[in-house]
Amino acid sequence: MKKQPIIIIGAGLTGLATAWLLKKQGINALVLEARESVGGRIETITGANGTPIEMGATWFGGKHQFLVNLLKELQIAAFPQFQQGKGLFESMSFTPAQEFDMPQGEEPSYRIAGGTQTVIQTLKESLNAEQIITGAKVHTIVQQTRGLQVFTQDTQYLAEQVISTLPPKLLVETVEFSPALPESIANLCANTHTWMGESIKFAVEYSTPFWRERGFSGAIFSQVGIANEVHDHTNLEENTFALKGFLSGGSRQMTKAQREAEVLKQLERLFGKVALEYTGYYEKVWANEPFTTDRVNEYLLPHQNNGHPVFQNALLDDRFVIAGTETSPVFGGYMDGAVHSAHLVVERLAEKLKVKGEV
Ligand SMILES: Cc1cc2nc3c(=O)[nH]c(=O)nc-3n(C[C@H](O)[C@H](O)[C@H](O)COP(=O)(O)OP(=O)(O)OC[C@H]3O[C@@H](n4cnc5c(N)ncnc54)[C@H](O)[C@@H]3O)c2cc1C
Repeated sequence: MKKQPIIIIGAGLTGLATAWLLKKQGINALVLEARESVGGRIETITGANGTPIEMGATWFGGKHQFLVNLLKELQIAAFPQFQQGKGLFESMSFTPAQEFDMPQGEEPSYRIAGGTQTVIQTLKESLNAEQIITGAKVHTIVQQTRGLQVFTQDTQYLAEQVISTLPPKLLVETVEFSPALPESIANLCANTHTWMGESIKFAVEYSTPFWRERGFSGAIFSQVGIANEVHDHTNLEENTFALKGFLSGGSRQMTKAQREAEVLKQLERLFGKVALEYTGYYEKVWANEPFTTDRVNEYLLPHQNNGHPVFQNALLDDRFVIAGTETSPVFGGYMDGAVHSAHLVVERLAEKLKVKGEV
């Protein structure tokens, strides 16, 4: 059994930000990640033309102060979401789409230069390589007198402190505890919505931003087509182009080829034949991701129980913390909530370690 003072479960934004904050205080935590790569619900892929395409988290605003400060400290640039020109609204199948002017004066949304994955990559690079183990799914946590025993498929650890950053619902559905977590906590976790766990993201990449050239912003809202929300996804340098958005939840039952055909039909209806000259179609069905959602949250309301104060309770002899964006009282569910959650964990651990004289 390997001894490890602090184990963080999950290398998404919360897990990596926690490890980074701890490292700044001279504490090297070990991060165990089930997937083969880091980032969790942040995933930027590269289109055939080189477009950074977000399959997960994309936008933030000035109000997201924890994230804004993290980006500042990591010296990561951001740029406003393009929204100049007309938007399109499809309200009924038997009437043409209505054009509308994008509201001016609203606080803009921002995107991260190079893609949201830049934050993840930068945090990862700030840690020692041996601090992150990928392909390490934690399946059991057992309380012992001298710490918590953490089991992955092939290794056992004994840790003084364990921090889970899994969506709370996934935690109680996929990790065994001995003794069991208090029923009130287990029930709270089971009834905490995993933000965006049921969403389907898609992008269509193009060689030219034909919508911009025709005075459109690329924003589409639809109650008719499979794509119910679409936005311009041009990169910061404005030399790679895509339209990106969300598909209706019902389309989960279709095959990828069927969804692609439906999206292209909708874009052709809105923009004409030029929409069919695409260089790539990309999508991600988050409900099919076992390390995000074990069972889809259909009966939970969006953000249900996100930021519930009970998540801050001490558990398993005060050695176990349930962290992650869904537990954050500030913008729970969002990237900002993930960074805030990391700060809360570190403040809490710093207090404990100070008492023990370790920092
Ligand atoms: C489609 C989509 C769009 C989004 N858009 C936005 C947006 O525009 N703006 C915004 O602010 N937020 C957005 N979000 C939310 C944002 O992605 C999250 O708030 C943030 O990434 C959560 O980080 P986290 O570390 O708390 O959780 P996660 O990213 O879920 O990290 C948990 C990690 O734990 C790992 N894990 C799971 N089970 C185990 C196990 N048993 N053992 C070890 N590791 C395990 C997972 O693989 C994962 O890496 C979006 C999310 C999605 C899915």
